[in-house]
Formats: sequence, structure tokens, C-alpha cells
Amino acid sequence: MTTTDTHKIRTICSINPCPTFDGVVATVRNGKVIKTEGDKDHPWSKGHTCPKGRHEWEVLYHPKRFKQPLLRTPSGMKEISWEEAIEVASERLGEVRTKYGPLSICSTLPRDPLSLFMRSLGSPNEMTNRDLCQGTVEVADQLTYGDVITIYRSAEDFRNSGCVLLVGTNPPVSAGGQWQDILHATRNGAKLIVVDPRRTEAARRADIYLQIRPGTDGALALAMLNVVINEDLYDAGFVDDYCVGFDQLREHVQQYTPKWASEITSLSPEEIVQTARTYAGNGPASYRGNLGLGQHSNSTQASRAFAALIAITGNIDILGGNRLPDPPPAGFEVLNQVLEDARVAKEVEEQALGADSFPLWAGPDSYMRAPHNPSVINAMLTDEPYPVKSWIVMGANPVMSYASAGKVMEAMKKLEFLMVLAYTPSPTSDLADLILPLAHPHEQNGVKFSPYGNWLSAMPKLVEPPEGCREDFQILHAIAERMVQKEYIQTNLIPWENNDEFMAARFADSKTSYQELCENGPIIREPKYKKYVDCGFKTDSGKVELYSSRMERYGYEPLPTYTECADSPTLLPRLAEKYPLCLTTRRTRQYLCSRSADYGWVREVDPYPQLLIHPVTAGERGIENGDRVAIETPKGSVRHVARLTEDIHPEVLSAIYGWWLPEKETEENGYLETNVNAVMSYDPPYDPEIGINRVQGVMCQIRKV
Ligand code: SF4
Repeated sequence: MTTTDTHKIRTICSINPCPTFDGVVATVRNGKVIKTEGDKDHPWSKGHTCPKGRHEWEVLYHPKRFKQPLLRTPSGMKEISWEEAIEVASERLGEVRTKYGPLSICSTLPRDPLSLFMRSLGSPNEMTNRDLCQGTVEVADQLTYGDVITIYRSAEDFRNSGCVLLVGTNPPVSAGGQWQDILHATRNGAKLIVVDPRRTEAARRADIYLQIRPGTDGALALAMLNVVINEDLYDAGFVDDYCVGFDQLREHVQQYTPKWASEITSLSPEEIVQTARTYAGNGPASYRGNLGLGQHSNSTQASRAFAALIAITGNIDILGGNRLPDPPPAGFEVLNQVLEDARVAKEVEEQALGADSFPLWAGPDSYMRAPHNPSVINAMLTDEPYPVKSWIVMGANPVMSYASAGKVMEAMKKLEFLMVLAYTPSPTSDLADLILPLAHPHEQNGVKFSPYGNWLSAMPKLVEPPEGCREDFQILHAIAERMVQKEYIQTNLIPWENNDEFMAARFADSKTSYQELCENGPIIREPKYKKYVDCGFKTDSGKVELYSSRMERYGYEPLPTYTECADSPTLLPRLAEKYPLCLTTRRTRQYLCSRSADYGWVREVDPYPQLLIHPVTAGERGIENGDRVAIETPKGSVRHVARLTEDIHPEVLSAIYGWWLPEKETEENGYLETNVNAVMSYDPPYDPEIGINRVQGVMCQIRKV
């Protein structure tokens, strides 16, 4: 008779870039994870998970999982020992650093050990993917409030809201836990307003649905400010006590009438007025703007306008509004502090690529302190303003997720050393000189702190990693240590040999040990509201900056304003004749960016990317449901399958972001065939304030193939 050891362990969803932090319960049988499901007792997610989160554990047993370091040789990739891998990594990175200087090494993504590793090397070029995500929204929030007040789990107190405003975001697909909170609020009578060019799942439940022209959300927000101010719907007490620049804003928005915005947005003036009155008159109101808002060349100003709307209606840090973050439990060292203590010198941060052009994004005075990604890619290709010769990629797939996939691939091929830390193969690891197999978060001890949900939760190790896989801390500590021994660098800023040591350091001054956190479950504290009464805001003035002194200092328009998107047919009428349609991108429930495309179950459910197209637009081109179509932009052509739906505006298309075909055994894994990013531009014009490139609202044409 065989015996089985089956037990359940509470943890947090391991899909790292997702800010939703759903609690899950894993079932482990005989040392193998066999299932994860929603944790009904988790304080915030209450049992919610999405398909990608529920199935993420399957990557542990992925048939192509890397289990041994691989080194590129003239005859192909060759398995090597970890001892050799550490030697190769330290030597090759050391050579590049000696020959071209520390700035010539860049990294993606900035996570704890990789950031510390980069700072050990003395490079500020830690690329982030937030320019592809909510970066503009975050920077706009920080300019206005000194903190981010949206996007992250529970930053919006949807559950207790009287009105929920969603702009360019579809929580039923991207943040299911928050969607449950929104539904709870609507059952209690809350109004739901959805602004999106596509009639999404959220839009179908909305009291007010605005099918806006892509890239014009800023015009809507400015006209809403106009209505709220002119109809005295604002919170005069909050404005008087806690805002700077209200009088200038009042005068400034007089030009942005609902009629003006109507001509830009394709909404009627009445819809705009009704939306403003509904938002301001049904407080407390919460707001979330995300990718559909944030990925245009005018997104920072648009996000600033919404940030101002939240402020003047007093919906900040109140029950049912948008919240400021709470500090962590006493004695628990949050990552930001660890990283703050390890910053490189100001003169070095000033040399981050793009810091001169986009000082709010890159450089010592910026919010993101990440280089400008297109500038890094250009430096790889041109050696200007200085050479970038090595890229360390961990937990990312830049070939798939950055715009202009062909250009990114070309840049990677010019590198002298590309090191990839990964679980499974991808189009990025296919180009690597050295591949280092990573242990998965479920194979090591971790912790999650949610400053908005006000909880601290353990992510305990569920199972041992495969023998040839190592933790990120283990790998990067060992490489830095070897580089110090070889005198390539002076200091290893990763003193912890593994994740357990790092965890112990983070809890060293806490009343609760990591072990106790694992055993007793999450620490939950009552959220505090109106923290600004005692502490003010973390802006230069200590108040909400409707008029941003920092933007003024850098020569940007200090009050929220509107400019037409760079890809607008109004600005480029001749190009619009050739490319008359407007291309937007979306995610599906199964995918998080390019992640999970190679998981077996995903390929079965979702084998080929679908382009949403209005039946009239399709009919004019002889396209029927299920036809293969070519999406053409000035940057090239990729393919999707047409899905006809009246949920999309006739002039707008919705493609899937970051798709590839892992089963295709070609060099490019089908990504030049299907990845819509391949036909997006990584060239200027960028958003002028923070330099993000446009991956929404791109001019295009389609045809049947
Ligand atoms: S929404 Fe999905 S991916 Fe995000 S935390 Fe929840 S289960 Fe994980």
C-alpha cells in the first residue's frame, strides 16, 4: 500500500508583476504542488483568483523548464555547472565593465537582488517595464500627491464607494478581486462609470458607458473639471486647506468646455456633463485609470487631469475614495528602504540613459529612477551617448513586451554579453549568451506587503526547486562575490547568500518573526484615513499640487492640459489616408503581458490572437469572422484572427498585446508573425513629460490574408 502526504499551505499568488496580490491555498502532495485555489479567508481577495494565477504553479513542472545553466558556444547552447556559470558571468560582466565602464551594463526588471546587484556594479541603468504599464499614471499621481493613489490593490476603496470611475481599464479581466469589490458597491447602489473605446465586460455593467475616441481621455477629464468647478460641485473645504493652484486651475479649465471636449472625444456634451455630475455628486468616489489611459503620447497630462479631479472633489484618503499608502508594520523593513540605502551616487544617477531628456522618469530627481528604455535600446545600437554592451534580464521577456520587437532583437544581437535568468525558454532567452535557471517564488520563502490593503503576508516555500535551479539571491550574491574577489568591483551590496538570510534581515527588528507570520497568517491592520491631516502630502509644497511646481521647474505645463496624440489623423491627415483605423491593444484572462503564452493549457484555450473589429469595418474589407487578417502600420505587418463584434467602435481595432507562438520551432517563435508590438514604434515622439512610447491609438489598416 502506498501512503500519500497531502497538505495545504496558504500563500499569495506568485505572478509577480500583477499588483492584485490574491491569496491562494496550495495543495502539495508528496513534495509536488498539485493545485492552487483562492483563499476564502484572505482579507482582501476573499477567494478570488484568475485563471493565470490558478494555473501558475504548472510552470514548476513545465516540460521545457531550465534545470542547468546553459552557455552559448560555437556549436550551440551547452550545459555547464553552476561553478562554471558563476565564473563565466563574473568574468564576462567584469570584462564589459572594465572595457566600457559601469554604465555599459543594463538590467531588466528591477527587483530586490537585481537592483542591488546593479548598484554593486555602479550602474543606474535598471530598466523597468512600467513604461509599458501604469508608469504615466504613477508619475502623475506622484506629481500631484507625492504618492501613488491608484492601480495597486486597495489603493481604490471600491467596496465602500458611492461611485466608481474606470478609465481605460477592465477589472473583470485584469483585476478580478477588485471587480468583486466594485460589484459589491454597485449592489449597494454605487454608480459605475466606464470610459473605454471598447465595450468591455465592465462597460456592460456600467450606469454610464462612454465609448471614447482612443487617446482623448485627457480632454474628457478637463471638461469634467470645468463642469465640477463651474457648477460648484467641488469640495471647497479640502481645496482651501490642502490644495495649491486651485484658482489657476479654475481659470485654466474655462477653455475646456463640454462642447470643446465633445468635438475631440466623440462624446456628446450632455454625456460629459452627466458624467461629471455623477462622479462629483455620488461620493465617496473612487477612480482607476490604467493602460488604455496611460499608453499614449499625451498620457501624463491626461492622468494629471484625473488626479486633479479626485483632489478637488475631496475623494482622497477617505473611506470609499482613493487611498494614500500606509506605512509597514513597525520593524519590518520594506524593500524601498533597502534599495534607498543602496542608491548609487547622484552624479552616477544623473548619467542614467534619458535622464537629461526625461528628468521626471530617469535620474536622481525622478520618480521612477529608471532609464528611458528606448534610449537604452538606441545606445545598444549606436553606442550613443555611450555604449551599452551587456544586459541582464531576469523575469522578463523584452523581445516580446517592448515595442518594435525587431529593433529590440537587433539591439540584443549587438551586445557582448546577454545574461538571462529564467524558468523557461522565450524569444529573449533564445538570444542569450548565458542562461541561469531560476527557482520559482513557490520554491523559496518570500513575503508580500500591501500598503493599501494594510496587510503583510508570508509566501512560504511550497516545494524544493529542481536540483539545477537556484534562487535569485543565491545567484546574484555569488556572481557579485566573485567579481569582488577578481577586483572587478569593490563592494557586493547583496550581503545575503540566499533568500532566507534576506528574509531574516527584513524581519530582524520586527516583533513578529517570519516563521510566526507563516504560522499565524497575515498581519492585518485597520486602515487609517486622512493621514494628510497630520503628515501633509509628500509633494514639494506638502499639499496636493493642482499646479505642479516640479513640472514648472522642468519646463512642463504645470496645470493639466490637452494635446492631440502624436498618431492623430488630425495631425497626420495624409498618413491617415493610408492607415485610417486606430489600433489599440488589450490583455486576456489567460495572459499577463507575454507571460504564460507557453503554458500548455493556455495554448489550448487561446491558440491564436484575436483582433476585435466592428462588423461594418470588416464588411467593407470583405473580412468575415475567423478570417486571418494582416494588421498593417507604418512599422510593418502582423497577423491575428478577426473576431467581429459591435462592442468596438467602427474606427477602432483591438489586438492582443505581446503574443508569440512557442510551438513554432522557428528562430522567432512566431513573434514577428503575431506580436502586435512588432509593428509599434519605439521612436519619438514620446510622451513629452516622461518619454513613454505609444502603444495605443496607433494608425493602422487591415486586410484579409
Ligand atoms: S489577478 Fe490573477 S495573476 Fe493577479 S494576483 Fe490574482 S490570481 Fe494572481
